[in-house]
Amino acid sequence: MRLVFLGPPGVGKGTQAQLLCKKYSIPQISTGDMFRAAIKEQTELGKKADAILKAGKLVDDSITLGLIKDRLQKSDCKNGYLLDGFPRTIPQAEGFGALLKELHQELDGVISIFVDEAVLIRRLSGRRSCPKCGKIFHLESNPPKKKDHCDSCGEKLIFRNDDKPETIHKRMETYRTLTEPLISYYKKKNLLFEIDGDQLIEKVFEDIVGVLKK
Ligand code: AMP
Repeated sequence: MRLVFLGPPGVGKGTQAQLLCKKYSIPQISTGDMFRAAIKEQTELGKKADAILKAGKLVDDSITLGLIKDRLQKSDCKNGYLLDGFPRTIPQAEGFGALLKELHQELDGVISIFVDEAVLIRRLSGRRSCPKCGKIFHLESNPPKKKDHCDSCGEKLIFRNDDKPETIHKRMETYRTLTEPLISYYKKKNLLFEIDGDQLIEKVFEDIVGVLKK
């Protein structure tokens, strides 16, 4: 199964991606996580990406495509993968299309999750994530069992640098102008499944699994 997750920041892509990847035994490939890891390790890429993420802008298309090209050729992608946060622009989608051809692969579907912007802002400000295993929590709707600590690995949870109100607005704007056009791009290719993300986590998951079965 090869899937793409599309949706604005805070819509629940990461949470749903983790559940789906477990169900279908495929890796979750999050370009955002890859950039955050590079920033943490202070690699050359990390040094470039740091200011871009803090400003709520997008990393250069060719850098992002290069990362994905290497990642999709790793052995764990043999039976498929779920792309969470990629592609994010039309040039990335076109580059990805060419890469799929080169690898003799086809995409099974693009899941687009939608939610009202006011709900997204509330969700992002309550989001906490584990810097070690990537598990995502929310202070109100999905709190950790032990305050501020990850249920899975016990690590202290963090508030993402780019979930601050100033950056959230810029990320929303970036999404609307650069990423939203991908919805009609994939609709035209008959690959799009639209899912209402303003429901309980379990119900959103059920809806996604339902459309994939069809
Ligand atoms: P995310 O964790 O998916 O919300 O991504 C966090 C940040 O990483 C984004 O706001 C961008 O700055 C950067 N980023 C993630 N994925 C991409 C991508 N496909 N293209 C460009 N920048 C990206």
